[in-house]
Formats: sequence, C-alpha cells, structure tokens
Amino acid sequence: MAARPLIRRLCIIGVGLIGGSLARALREAGEVDEIVGCGRGEDNLRTAVRLGVVDRYDTDPARAVTGADVVVVAVPLGAIAPVLRALVPHLSANTVVTDVGSAKGSVVADVERIYGAIPPNFVPGHPIAGTEQSGVEASFATLFQNRRVILTPLAETCATAHHLIRQMWALTGAEVIDMGVRHHDAVLAATSHLPHMLAYTLVDTLARLDDRAEIFRYAAGGFRDFSRIASSDPKMWHDICIANREQLLEMIALFSADLERLAEAIRSDDRATILATFQRAKRARDNLYLE
Ligand code: NAP
Repeated sequence: MAARPLIRRLCIIGVGLIGGSLARALREAGEVDEIVGCGRGEDNLRTAVRLGVVDRYDTDPARAVTGADVVVVAVPLGAIAPVLRALVPHLSANTVVTDVGSAKGSVVADVERIYGAIPPNFVPGHPIAGTEQSGVEASFATLFQNRRVILTPLAETCATAHHLIRQMWALTGAEVIDMGVRHHDAVLAATSHLPHMLAYTLVDTLARLDDRAEIFRYAAGGFRDFSRIASSDPKMWHDICIANREQLLEMIALFSADLERLAEAIRSDDRATILATFQRAKRARDNLYLE
C-alpha cells in the first residue's frame, strides 16, 4: 500500500510568488494530493491552473478551504485580516492554518482579534526567501532550497500543528527555525526591512534629481546591486512598514544617527572616524558569510 502524502488537500490563499513557489515545491516532493488556489480574481488563478501550480481554484474562500488539511495564507500583510475574517467561520477544527507574512506581531494581533483568542491550530511562519518579482508566473519550486523558514509558534500552538508545518517547509528544502514573535520582528527589521527602506529612498532621491538621466547612465554595478531590491512590490513593502512600524522606526533612528555621525566626520575632516567606520564595516561584511 502506498504511503499517504503529508497533506491530502492544501489550500493556498494568494497564489503569488511565495504561495505559488510553496505549491510547486510540495508538488515536486510528491507530498500533496490536491492543491486548491484562492484569490481575488480569476486571471491569476487561471494562470496558476495552466502552469500546473494548483489543481483547481475557487474565488470563494469558504468553498476553497472546505476539506483542506492545511491552509496557507500567502497574501500581502494588509490583506491578512480581511482574508482571515472571510475564512474563519468555514474552517474545520482539524484544519491547520499558517501564513507567510514578513512581519509576525501584526499577524498574531490580527489572528487574536479575529478568532477571539489564539487558536491552537494556527502556526505563524515566514520564509526568508524571495525575489523582487511578484505573481504566480514568478514562482518556482526551488525558491526555498537551502533558505531558512522562521516559525513563531505561540504558547497556545498545538504541537501537532507545529510539527506538520515544520515538515511541510522541510520538504521544500528549507531549514526550519523557531523564534519568538518580537525577536523575529526585530531581526527582520534590521536585516530586511531597513535595507529595503534604504534602497527605496536612495533610488527615489536620485530619481528626483534634475540630472537623473545622466546619473543613472553612469551608475556602476555597485549601484545596480544595492538598488535591486527597490524594484520589489511597493504595496507589499508599504504593508511591511506599517506592520512592523515600531521595530523598523527603531532601526531607522539608529541608522540615521550613524549616517549623521559619518556626515559630521566628513564635514569636520575627521579622517580617522571615516576610515574606522569603513574598516569596521568591511571586517563585518567579510566575516558575514563565513560563520
Ligand atoms: P505576490 O506575488 O504579490 O502574491 C500575493 C498574492 O496574494 C497575489 O497573487 C494575489 O492573488 C493575492 N492578493 C494580493 N492582494 C490581495 C488582497 N488585497 N486580498 C486578497 N488577496 C490578495 O506576493 P508575495 O511576494 O508572494 O508575498 C505574499 C506574502 O509573502 C506577503 O505577506 C509577504 O510579506 C510575504 N513574503 C514575501 C517575500 C518576498 O520576497 N516576496 C518573502 C517572504 C515573505 P490574486 O491576484 O489571485 O488575488
């Protein structure tokens, strides 16, 4: 007798880059019988069926989640609350729900508000993988390979649900790590959210200069590398800023103070400070990927 797959019916709400890539990876692993997609309109979902990312779709969340073992909410952070509100009355007590949102405190607050309490079968998650592309056509099965997925289970989270979501992500080739919600949001504010703010602001500042055409013409590889993430989806990043406001503002304040210190060193011809700053940063960057 053939072994049962890990998930019999998987429902992905928001079949975009992350939801689509997860569906593709689990299908390749042969650990899901049926994948049902759900979204706002039919265009993206039809494409998802045509590409073989999902088996079928339903634009009605109540019907889409029927009979699902696992529901993955993979919509932008600002859409998580309305999506959950539409789903919750139709979820069976056995369905495990997870999300992929880039900030976790806001998701946990949404869940608590909508369910009335943290439900045992909700496992907050965040894959630390992505590209600056969006939509199902940008999705690919190997997106999570050798990347990390952070789960932020809560005191109320049931061990079986937590274990199932761990296994699901492990099948994609990711290393699965548990972290506290606040710690996750602080770490991501520093390593992902602040860098996106810097890239967006730098490109926006330069793009508003009178001689921008000239400036961009002579931009070298370093600028291309640094500015790549400024082509990420603006709405998604708008939602992340708002969702992780408190922790992000702390990082922006810290960075602004350091930038001002560097500006002062340049202004006052304090060469020792300039050199020491760059040397410290080079040492840190050179050691970053060796640990
Ligand atoms: P995406 O490619 O734009 O996919 C999101 C999908 O959600 C869309 O395909 C869309 O499907 C649906 N959607 C969009 N707005 C919606 C709304 N207002 N209500 C309901 N559904 C909506 O985005 P993504 O990059 O996969 O990001 C999805 C989630 O993953 C976000 O919460 C993000 O924070 C998180 N994340 C992203 C990355 C990354 O690098 N991209 C990495 C880790 C985590 P329909 O058009 O069919 O409705």
